[in-house]
Amino acid sequence: MDIVAAITSVKATVGLLDKWIETRDFIKLSELKIELQGTVLELSNSALDLMDRLAKCEAIRRDLESENTKLQNRITEMGSYEIAEVRPGGFGYKSVDSTKPMHYICQLCYDKDGIKSFLHEYFSHGKKVYVCLACKSHL
Ligand SMILES: [Zn+2]
Repeated sequence: MDIVAAITSVKATVGLLDKWIETRDFIKLSELKIELQGTVLELSNSALDLMDRLAKCEAIRRDLESENTKLQNRITEMGSYEIAEVRPGGFGYKSVDSTKPMHYICQLCYDKDGIKSFLHEYFSHGKKVYVCLACKSHL
């Protein structure tokens, strides 16, 4: 083999090696691409799951915030009342807010459902009696 033939042969071999490397890299790249697509799909699914959880947490947060507001309002409102014996053995909430006329609200309705039902006063057999028009309880 002369020098020119050897160089040509080496060039041809290098060319074949380059093609082989390109082919091998292409296959490797395809494998990596498939693997990468799988990872991206898993990440997408995880992101969707996290977004779903976040939405649920946000809904729970809003519910808790709403409940907190209701409870804060109720605490504020209950600052205007104190438990009192409306008549012997009968209890209700008595208003203690000096800016409003004194009145009673039904303890049962308020404690059970948060309903602010006024106790109405009337006389029965010469005795003062209170009735809640919401739950119909008599005190
Ligand atoms: Zn009541």
